Amino acid sequence: MLDLESLFNLSYGMCIVSSKRNGKINGCIVNTVFQLTPEPPVIAISVNKENLTHEYIAKSTVFVVSILAEKTPLEFMGRFGYRSGRDFDKFQKVNYKIGITGPPIVLDNTVGFIEAEVTEAIDVETHTLFIGRVIACQTIDAGETPMTYNYYRDVKGGRTPRTAATYIAKKPETESKQGVKEMQKYRCLMCGYIYDPQAGDPAGGVEPGTAFEDLPDDWICPDCGVGKDEFEPVND
Ligand code: FE
Repeated sequence: MLDLESLFNLSYGMCIVSSKRNGKINGCIVNTVFQLTPEPPVIAISVNKENLTHEYIAKSTVFVVSILAEKTPLEFMGRFGYRSGRDFDKFQKVNYKIGITGPPIVLDNTVGFIEAEVTEAIDVETHTLFIGRVIACQTIDAGETPMTYNYYRDVKGGRTPRTAATYIAKKPETESKQGVKEMQKYRCLMCGYIYDPQAGDPAGGVEPGTAFEDLPDDWICPDCGVGKDEFEPVND
């Protein structure tokens, strides 16, 4: 019995993990941050190897965890989700300050931050487990509540990105009850935006009546900027 959905019962917090390299900064959403020891304070993060932030942490051996508040808008999370920092400056229009070792500390929608230096990196299939000794940490806004992964899914309506371990693919259902083919709607996994072929995306240069499959490969979500492969068919 391998009921993967049972793993959703584990609780996690939603954070932005950031790092630096050669004068550049980048960050991504990570929901697997946990404390290993109290004294000295040591934490661990699990980061997907596909992420640019992974490369930055591996090279610079420093990272910052910014703990997100429940009030964080989905658009803000989409910015740091699986849209790649390779072709987009995620920190543009975001308030941040630079930590002691160089990575950015996010100041918007953040409850607090933890800055750490990597002491060990463990290879785990698609991810790397970075263990880091805490060198600085501070509460930024004590009045805010940290966002859990369950809150993100159940209250905010956020979805699991394709590259996350918990992602389960859905199949399109294009036949209606009458057996007539309908234009399939697609939902953005990061921010919940729904692409409706009837409406198209005029602001993005897509005419009404354009099927999702016919969108250009470089088309991006108008709300959060992720690519087509972060969309799933809407079956409900
Ligand atoms: Fe989106």
